Amino acid sequence: MSLTRREFVTQAMAGVAVVAVSFPVQAAAKFTPAPESAMAFTLSPLPYAKTALEPFMSAQTFDFHHGKHHQAYVTNLNKLIEGTDYANKTLEEIILASSGDAAKAGIFNNAAQVWNHTFFWNSMKPAGGGKPTGALAAAIEKDFGSFEKFVEEFKTAGATQFGSGWAWLVLDNGKLKVTKTANAETPMTKGQIALLTIDVWEHAYYLDYQNRRPDFIATFLDKLANWEFAASNYDTALTKQAA
Ligand code: ZN
Repeated sequence: MSLTRREFVTQAMAGVAVVAVSFPVQAAAKFTPAPESAMAFTLSPLPYAKTALEPFMSAQTFDFHHGKHHQAYVTNLNKLIEGTDYANKTLEEIILASSGDAAKAGIFNNAAQVWNHTFFWNSMKPAGGGKPTGALAAAIEKDFGSFEKFVEEFKTAGATQFGSGWAWLVLDNGKLKVTKTANAETPMTKGQIALLTIDVWEHAYYLDYQNRRPDFIATFLDKLANWEFAASNYDTALTKQAA
């Protein structure tokens, strides 16, 4: 791909090394462009192959959901923060700083969706589902009454989230809870620690399940949920609280 002179200059200026701008266009074509800026966010790769969750979540779904939707949130976020105070913040800092500020809704929505989707990919694994073990299993028994009660609450939260959003297992002041959030909203803005999530935007399930959102949620719990990831988030949260 060859760059126009203007693109080359912009990229060189934004890169770590500012290169003399008198390069002929021909030389620019051989130059490996620097990232747009040192802090630009990139799309996290999936933690497994895009075919790894078939037949429960298809490669085609990942092509759109990860390759198009998640990528678009990353691209939009980078555009929105370029040259602003947000450009030097971490993703979590951007989410917390823009939350609740109507003037910053675009930044919040894209930043939170970048975070939520990376968290969602990790909330699934091949041959997942089943039940958690260890400290998280004991805490679920204690706070929900039984694993089955948790399943019921989680299914209800996902199925009754009107329109787009997310269902979550969170740790809230030391207690496990099921919550649902609308659109890009994410538990950290309420001081809750996310342990596991399911994306219930239509783009998450429409190619594989069409309008059958409850089937998608049931399959997530039976076949995809990554309880090791949730348990590791729980252990990390407990360690931080104890510190
Ligand atoms: Zn999504």
